Amino acid sequence: MTSGKIIKVSGPLIVAEGMAHANMFDVVRVGEDKLIGEIIEMRGDRASIQVYEETAGVKFGDEVITTGAPLSVELAPGLIENIYDGIQRPLEKIREIAGSNINRGIDVKSVDRDRVWDFAPSKKVGDKVTSGDILGTVPETVIVEHRVMVPHGISGEIVEISEGSFRVEDTICKIKKENGETVSVSMLQKWPVRVGRPYKEKMPPDVPMITGQRVIDTMFPIAKGGAAAVPGPFGSGKTVVQHQLAKWSDVDIVVYIGCGERGNEMTDVLREFPELLDPKTGESLMKRTVLIANTSDMPVAAREASIYTGITIAEYYRDMGYDVAVIADSTSRWAEALREMSGRLEEMPGEEGYPAYLASRLAQFYERAGRIYAVCGEERRGSLTAIGAVSPPGGDISEPVSQATLRIVKVFWGLDSSLAYRRHFPAINWLNSYSLYLDRLSGWFDENVTREFIKNRSEAMNLLQLEAELQEIVRLVGIDALSAEDRVTLETAQIIREDFLQQNAFSDTDSYTPLTKQARLMNLILKYYELSKNAVAAGAALGNIFAISAREKLGRAKDVSNETFNTAYDEIEELMEKEMNALVTKEVQ
Ligand code: ADP
Repeated sequence: MTSGKIIKVSGPLIVAEGMAHANMFDVVRVGEDKLIGEIIEMRGDRASIQVYEETAGVKFGDEVITTGAPLSVELAPGLIENIYDGIQRPLEKIREIAGSNINRGIDVKSVDRDRVWDFAPSKKVGDKVTSGDILGTVPETVIVEHRVMVPHGISGEIVEISEGSFRVEDTICKIKKENGETVSVSMLQKWPVRVGRPYKEKMPPDVPMITGQRVIDTMFPIAKGGAAAVPGPFGSGKTVVQHQLAKWSDVDIVVYIGCGERGNEMTDVLREFPELLDPKTGESLMKRTVLIANTSDMPVAAREASIYTGITIAEYYRDMGYDVAVIADSTSRWAEALREMSGRLEEMPGEEGYPAYLASRLAQFYERAGRIYAVCGEERRGSLTAIGAVSPPGGDISEPVSQATLRIVKVFWGLDSSLAYRRHFPAINWLNSYSLYLDRLSGWFDENVTREFIKNRSEAMNLLQLEAELQEIVRLVGIDALSAEDRVTLETAQIIREDFLQQNAFSDTDSYTPLTKQARLMNLILKYYELSKNAVAAGAALGNIFAISAREKLGRAKDVSNETFNTAYDEIEELMEKEMNALVTKEVQ
C-alpha cells in the first residue's frame, strides 16, 4: 500500500503526488471520508485519480491510499435482482445506511455476506477440475440457476466438496493443485472490470437473437453475440424498444446499464423495470435482471465505470453457459462522462471536445460481445449480445458518438422522430436501418423457419424502397402519373408498413410475434401482391382489387392470437385466392 498527498482537486478529478509505487487503474481511497477513486493517469510520482463520489470537502494535502487492486466486481449468487450503482454498490443497502442523503465513503459489500444459499454439488471428491468447470449450482432466483465455477487460475483434484446452506464466503470445495497446494474455493469471485473475461473461442454470429419484434427479426435481425445500436431522439420510442427487448428476447439474463439520462429519467427506469413481467414465466422481469443505475446525484465518473461493471457481470453469466443481453442506455451520456474527465486531465480534445480515444473505448465495450465456448474442461457455450442506445443531441447522428458507434456495431435500428410523430411504432426507419448479420443468419432462417424467409424479406425491402421512389414521383406529378402496377406496389408497401412493421407494444396479441407467424404474415402480404399484379394484368379495376374483403382481413391478421393464427392464415389465403380469381375470371369473360 502506498499513500500520497493531494496537490490538486478539480471536480471528480484529483491529482496526488508521492504515488510512484501505485499502478495504473488501482483503486484508491481519497481524503478523510475515504472516497472511492481509480488511477487513470500516472506521470512520474503523480497520479490522476477519478473519484466516484462527490469530492466537495476534499482538500490540498489530504491523504490518498492505494488499495493495490484494480477496480473489480464481486461475482457470486445474489447479483440477479440487484440494483447497483456504477461501481457495484447496492443502491438499496446504501439507502438503508445513509437514507436519501448524499453518502460518501460508505463501505458496502456488493454481494450480501449474510445471505444463505443452497449449494448442490455436481462434482465429487476425486474429480479433476480446471478453471471454469461447474462445481455445483445454487437456485439464485426462481428462474436463474447460478452455476458456481472453479475460479480462473485454479485446477486440480477435488479433495472436499460440501452440500447444504452456505454464505458466499464459506468454503464449499477444496481443490488440491498439481503442486500439492490445497486451495479453498467459495462461491465468491472477483474480476477486474476493465479486463474482458477470457473465453476459449468465439463462434461466428450465425444464430439470431429472436425478439418477437417483426421489424427487428424479419428486417434487421441481430445475432446472438452481436452488437447493435439504437440511436433515437427524445420521444421516438427508445425506452419502449429497450423494454420490449428486455422482455421478449430469447436470452436467459438481462443486464441493463442506465448511464443516467437527463435527471429523473433514470429514476423512471428504477421504478418501471421492476414492474415489468417476464412473459415466459409470469414472474417479475427482475428475477433474471441485473440493473446498473447511475442516478442523477452521482458524479460523472461513476457513469464511466458503469459500462464495464455491467458487461463484466454479463460475461460472468455468459461463462456459466447462458445467453445474456446487455442493454446500455445511453452510451452518449457515458461518452459525455469520458469527455468531462478528459477535459479535466487537460488532454488534447478531438472532435466536439471528445477525447481522441472515444472510438477505441466504445470498441472495447462492444468487442466484449460474442457467442463463445467458455473456458472450462467441458464444452459449454454462452453468448453476450450488446445493445447500446445512443441519444444524439437533436437526433443528428453525424455527431462523434453516433459515428464512432456505427463504425463498430453491425446492426443499426434508426429510430425516427417523424415516424413516431405519425405514430408508426416501433419508429425504426426501414430505409436507413441495417443488419450486417443477414448473410450469416440466412442459413439459420432457411433451416429453422422457411426457405422463403430471406427471399421474402428482400422482396419486402425492395417494395419499401420502390415505394419511397414512387412517393417522390407522386409528390411531383400526382398519383395519376403512376401505372396500375405501381399503384399495386404502393398498396402492398402500405400493407407492409401498417400491417407488418407497425407493432403495438401494449397489445397482448401484438406485443410478441413468433418467427413462424412473422414468416407466414409476410408470405400472405406478398401473395396479395402477386395476385394483385395478375388481376391488374388481366384487366381488373384497381378499386376492386383494393376492396376485396381478404385485404381487410389481412390488415387485422397481426392481431389474431398466436394460437389461432394458423387457421386464420389458411382462411385468409383461401378467401384471397377466391376473390382475386373471381376478379380475373370476370375480366376474361
Ligand atoms: P423515448 O424513450 O425515446 O423518449 P418512449 O419509449 O418513452 O420514448 O416512447 C414514447 C411513447 O411512444 C410511448 O409512451 C408510447 O406511447 C409510444 N410508443 C413507443 N413505442 C411504441 C410501440 N412499440 N407501441 C406502441 N406505442 C409505442
